[in-house]
Amino acid sequence: MKLETIRHSLAHILAYAVRELYPDTCFGIGPAIENGFYYDFDLKRSLAPEDLLKIEEKMRELIKEDIVFKKKKIIKKEAKEIFKDQPYKLELINEIKEDKVTVYESGNFVDLCAGPHVKSTKEIPADSFKLTKIAGAYWRGSEKNQMLTRIYGVAFKTKKELENYLQKEAEAEKRDHRILGQKLELFSFDEEIGAGLPLWHPKGAILRKIIEDYLYKELILQGYQWIVSPHIGKLDLWKTSGHWDLYRENMYSPIKIDEEEYMLKPMNCPFHVKIYQSKIRSYRDLPIKYAELGTVYRYEKSGVLHGLVRVRGFTQDDAHIWCTPEQLSTELIKLLKHGFKILKTFGFKDFDIYLSTRPEKYAGTEKDWQKAENSLKYVLKKLKLKYQIDPGGGVFYGPKIDIKIKDSLGRPWQCTTIQLDFNLPERFKMNYIDKKGRKERPIMIHRALIGSIERFIGVLLEHYAGALPLWLSPVQIWVIPVGTRHKKYAQEVSQKLSDGGARVELKDEAETVSKKIREGEIQKIPYLLVVGDKEMKNKSVRIRSKNKDLGSMKLNRFISHLRRILNSS
Ligand SMILES: [Zn+2]
Ligand SMILES: [Zn+2]
Repeated sequence: MKLETIRHSLAHILAYAVRELYPDTCFGIGPAIENGFYYDFDLKRSLAPEDLLKIEEKMRELIKEDIVFKKKKIIKKEAKEIFKDQPYKLELINEIKEDKVTVYESGNFVDLCAGPHVKSTKEIPADSFKLTKIAGAYWRGSEKNQMLTRIYGVAFKTKKELENYLQKEAEAEKRDHRILGQKLELFSFDEEIGAGLPLWHPKGAILRKIIEDYLYKELILQGYQWIVSPHIGKLDLWKTSGHWDLYRENMYSPIKIDEEEYMLKPMNCPFHVKIYQSKIRSYRDLPIKYAELGTVYRYEKSGVLHGLVRVRGFTQDDAHIWCTPEQLSTELIKLLKHGFKILKTFGFKDFDIYLSTRPEKYAGTEKDWQKAENSLKYVLKKLKLKYQIDPGGGVFYGPKIDIKIKDSLGRPWQCTTIQLDFNLPERFKMNYIDKKGRKERPIMIHRALIGSIERFIGVLLEHYAGALPLWLSPVQIWVIPVGTRHKKYAQEVSQKLSDGGARVELKDEAETVSKKIREGEIQKIPYLLVVGDKEMKNKSVRIRSKNKDLGSMKLNRFISHLRRILNSS
């Protein structure tokens, strides 16, 4: 029996149970989905989470009754009679073109459905499904329609699989970056500001700065030049670049300034092109690599916004590289090697790599594409990287390599992208002077390594469940004096540590040590240093890290210990 069939049959049983418990309900639809199923209801009451248990119990009762799913083909008129009190079903029947419609009868519950289903409920394992949540959903997904109540369930073939799934979900919930972000005081959202527009609090801003500084240092070493570009640009610029034609649905409406229209930038590329074009470039200047932490704004439907992972304004670690055809593979190899180095520094070790090839609509010639795809394949092979081909998955302007990082729960997150572009150099008529004094078009590469800082921080928080590595922790150490007479020594310790470059907070408020330790552990502070009589006398600190007491250590030794950890990350 296919799991999908079991899941879909469970949706029917769910509807049956709801009808038994709440007979005045009107029914929407109930498909199988990933991991389970749902059914949409027009209920005359609102449901509480405990009602799910009641419905679930009813479903198990029904399953035990060994109810048979009977398929019937009936004429529309008859169907309309059966569903005369069901406006949503009537709407669906009216849209069916054939004279006859298929209904399934299970017990004394009839549903409009083409199947397939299990033969009878004895094929459904009663101990391996669970109703998980209630949500609002518009009838047929349109805001113009009635809001219905959607009940979700998950279902598997065995109880063990269900338990594994629920456990993984619970683990993911604990790692939810939206909750961690609030608890660790990193960021928040405010309705008065708008959805998808994060506010970075002091500690979140420190975290961003650490990441930005690290990227800056790394990219300068790789020969990038740092640039900064404005947040808006004239509409005409976006017409030249092609964004106005091909990317408009992701852009916000024009802003009028002195009778001219400007757009909030959804990408940084055209600005970088303009800096390239600010003077004549020779083959000797290439490759030219411009990097920017560019904040862009893209329209996302409110329904898909999700914490920091899907937002409306975000900062890309964006860069563009222009090179000659001869330089292309060398540059790509450098780019990939460096990209993996950076991702590994942040603690990611597993990757899925995709090569996306020419889509149906494309800029440039077929020959260009072939050459570019071959270069990408060549470098992936040269670096012995395993990859999958995503046929036709390239952007209209060129093929690309995407890297998804896998977090500690094995969940993939889109991160790095390296894209070749035949479109912009052509549209902006970019060139360089070659060895023979002729004008040539440079090859253009767009690349983002961590993707967006917002999204990447969201992934980091989920990957580490909030307990960031020492070098990324906005606050690395709390110094906690046991009593008032230890305050002075605690101050000395803090000073010495911060002079050494550590991010330290002195916790000398009038609260118990155990309360401060508890709070520090909730805040995921890497080191809690408690100082009392003994520590004061020995010039030492008592160390607590990752919920464990590590005993006392001389302060100087602790400082070199910190330095060792920071140097190795
Ligand atoms: Zn069905
Ligand atoms: Zn770009």
